[in-house]
Amino acid sequence: MKIVDKNEVSKNLNETEQLNAIINSSDNIVFFGGAGVSTESGIPDFRSVSGLYSDSQYKTPPERMLSHSFFLSHMEEFFSYYKERILHLEAAPNQAHIKLAELERAGKLRAVITQNIDGLHQKAGSKNVIELHGSVHRNNCLDCGKSYKVGYIARARGVPVCDCGGVIKPGVVLYEESLNQDDIARAVNYINEADVLIIGGTSLVVYPAAGLVQHYKGSKLIIINKTGTESDNRALLVIRQGIGEVMGGVVVKL
Ligand code: ZN
Repeated sequence: MKIVDKNEVSKNLNETEQLNAIINSSDNIVFFGGAGVSTESGIPDFRSVSGLYSDSQYKTPPERMLSHSFFLSHMEEFFSYYKERILHLEAAPNQAHIKLAELERAGKLRAVITQNIDGLHQKAGSKNVIELHGSVHRNNCLDCGKSYKVGYIARARGVPVCDCGGVIKPGVVLYEESLNQDDIARAVNYINEADVLIIGGTSLVVYPAAGLVQHYKGSKLIIINKTGTESDNRALLVIRQGIGEVMGGVVVKL
C-alpha cells in the first residue's frame, strides 16, 4: 500500500498512473461513494466540520430535524429546513460523477452505490445507481402515492400537498427509518462480484458503509478519501485527496 500526500506531486502522478492501470484492466468495476463525492459539487457533508452539524442557524440538531418523528410532528419546520438546507438543485456534477458515467458507458463500471441523495450521478449520465439513502428526486403522496418532481417540492409554500390533499413526502431515508433491503441486497451482490472496488469520499464509519465493504472478495480495492479509513490496510491503492480531483485524472480507454 502506498499513501499519497497531496503535497507530493511527483508521487501523485505515479498514483494516478496506477489508478488508470487498474481501472483500464477491468470490466467489472463497482464504485461506492459517500458525502465527499457531493461536497466537491458544493453540497455540504452532514458530518464534516463545515457541514450541517455545525449549522448554528437552527437550534434543533439536524439529526432531529431530519428524523421521521420530527417530519410527522413538525411538518412546516421540516420542509423549511429541507428546502433550505437539503435541496441543492443548482448543484452540478463534478469530475467524479462525470468519469464514473463515462466508465459505465465504456462497459467497465457495473454500478454506482451511493449514500448521497442529490441525484448528481444520474445528472452526469450514470444509469445503474443504487441510492442507499434514497433521493430528493422521488417524492410521493402519503395518501395516494402519486409521484411529484423535486421542483414541485421546492416551489411549494410550506408543506407540499398532493391534488388529493395528502402530504407529499420526499423519498429520502430519514433518521429512524430503515434502509431499503432490496437496495442493500443489490449493493452487496455487486460488491461481492466486483473485480475492482473503488471507495470514494467516505471515511467508512457510517452504517451501512463499513459493513458493505466487507463483502468485497477481490484484491483490487482502491480508496480515495481525504482522510484515512478503517479499510486502508486492505487496499491495493490509497489516495488521500479529493475524489473529484483524482477522478479528473482518469483516462478511460475503450
Ligand atoms: Zn395524493
